[in-house]
Amino acid sequence: MDKIQILSPEISNKIAAGEVVENAASVVKELVENAIDAGASSIVTEIKKGGMSYIRVTDNGCGMSGDDARRAFLRHATSKIRGESDLERIQTLGFRGEALASIAAVSKVELLTKAAGQEGIMLELEAGGKVSEQPAGCPEGTTIVVKDLFYNTPARMKFLKSDKTETGYVTDIIERLILSRPDISVLYIVDGKERLFSSGDGQLRSCVYAVYGRDYAKGSLDVSRNENGVKVSGLVGRAEISRGNRNFQSFFLNGRYIKNKSLTYALESAYNNMLMTGKFPFFAVHLEIPPEMVDINVHPKKQEVKFSDERMVGNEIYWAVKNSLLQCAEEIKKTFVPKTSFEYKPTPALSEPVRQLELKSDNVSWLNQGKDADDINNKTDDIPESKAAYKIVGQLFDTYIVIQCGEKIILIDQHAAHERMIFERIKKLYKQKKTIGQVLLSPAAVVLSPKEYACLFDNIKIFHDFGFEIEEFGNNSILVRQAPFTMDNEELKSVITEFIEMMDSSGDFLSKHEEKMLEMIACKAAVKGGSMMHGAEIEALIEDILKSNPVSTCPHGRPIAITITRYELEKMFKRIV
Ligand code: ADP
Ligand code: MG
Repeated sequence: MDKIQILSPEISNKIAAGEVVENAASVVKELVENAIDAGASSIVTEIKKGGMSYIRVTDNGCGMSGDDARRAFLRHATSKIRGESDLERIQTLGFRGEALASIAAVSKVELLTKAAGQEGIMLELEAGGKVSEQPAGCPEGTTIVVKDLFYNTPARMKFLKSDKTETGYVTDIIERLILSRPDISVLYIVDGKERLFSSGDGQLRSCVYAVYGRDYAKGSLDVSRNENGVKVSGLVGRAEISRGNRNFQSFFLNGRYIKNKSLTYALESAYNNMLMTGKFPFFAVHLEIPPEMVDINVHPKKQEVKFSDERMVGNEIYWAVKNSLLQCAEEIKKTFVPKTSFEYKPTPALSEPVRQLELKSDNVSWLNQGKDADDINNKTDDIPESKAAYKIVGQLFDTYIVIQCGEKIILIDQHAAHERMIFERIKKLYKQKKTIGQVLLSPAAVVLSPKEYACLFDNIKIFHDFGFEIEEFGNNSILVRQAPFTMDNEELKSVITEFIEMMDSSGDFLSKHEEKMLEMIACKAAVKGGSMMHGAEIEALIEDILKSNPVSTCPHGRPIAITITRYELEKMFKRIV
């Protein structure tokens, strides 16, 4: 018996839809790209419940005639290419004629459209088939509403994440849309609330303001270069607004968002020595490159692109960014007025000379030997408490505290030690469900990006559990009244944004992040290496360390203390052989 059958269009459309329509974000991406291809200068996107129940995209582009509207939902129906030769010079974002057919196969669609000089039309489709059609009075342009995504493909539905996560994916698409087209006005509404708005004034800086907030719009430099057929333009962040990850980086190639590791590397190289390790610059950079220098034969959904000469493109990016950074440094130099006289301030005296303190010998042995607290506890039972003496000798390189303790010199890494102290304290409080927070002397205002702002208030309870008291302050800024620890504004902002990132990347908050978050708080709140500490501060820290029973490493695993014995020293000086 013959086995092979041709699948019905309904089934084959559903299967094909799987390639184009993965989730609500991919629907939004296709609809928005169609709006751009239609020449729209204004695009409104609205979603509800992560886009699963409702997606609307409205544009003021060219619209469709009645016949085109009916054809638009057929597979391989496109107005963007006609013959094979058109494939060589594609100027539009779409050209495969698959998106609308695929979307309509797995949802309920309403289309309202009107082309210049034509009557408007309203179409309703379900599972790819037409349900109703009627003439409609509407302005020129197109509105597409997609309801109940995947209602007829439950298997797909299972792969979707929470509404919040799906919303995040859609937001990413809209953010890129805004950054890719400063000339288009974009409004984005989530569950009835305006989330993002860009005016379409043609300025990339306004787009950066809309997407990432004031700090990024103000703290970035213009980049512009046009050599060797590669036009590089856009904005790159000053070192001060660098971030702990690469989320705020985007390249657009001929208007299309792309990902490319070697171009990212080339751009970051322009910052050499300007950024701390683990920090990445912010950038939104547009590349205009003749199509023949780019491999266009890639799937339109793929964001990776190949260049005929990637090194050359990388070089152009490097020099474009480098020149802006150098120019900025020059300007700073010019405006910097050096002080005429150098004022010498003596270092405050350290505690003189020997302090007697009740010390538990186990604490001393911890400092001396750098063993784990657990090991010490196993060692300690038969060691009686004794009176030990230590002397703070001073601070080395503004980073290490030197103490003399009996026959030993102990070097303490001030940051690692302080970090461990804070970590243990807040972890205990957190586990006991006690308030970690400390009321700030003056509340701190922090500006966030619209996405960060939304994510923060979606997760406000977690912030509360970690000791934050945060109020809305308007215009995507927040007022922090209480924080887990007193720290300066910069650190506070970075703890908050890194928290948000963790929540955002994990979708929902996972308990495995708790420890990491406590670590982060401790790290930000602890005194940094390279900062001079006063005598009293050193004393307080050392006293703290000796009083507690800490582990020998900071939460990241670096040692807190190193010991050199007198014997070792004397051997080095050949006093003993
Ligand atoms: P493609 O974009 O690859 O051509 P689509 O399935 O996305 O395929 O769209 C099919 C066709 O429908 C497009 O080629 C275009 O002619 C028309 N179309 C879709 N969306 C719009 C819109 N917002 N405004 C005007 N025409 C549109
Ligand atoms: Mg399309």
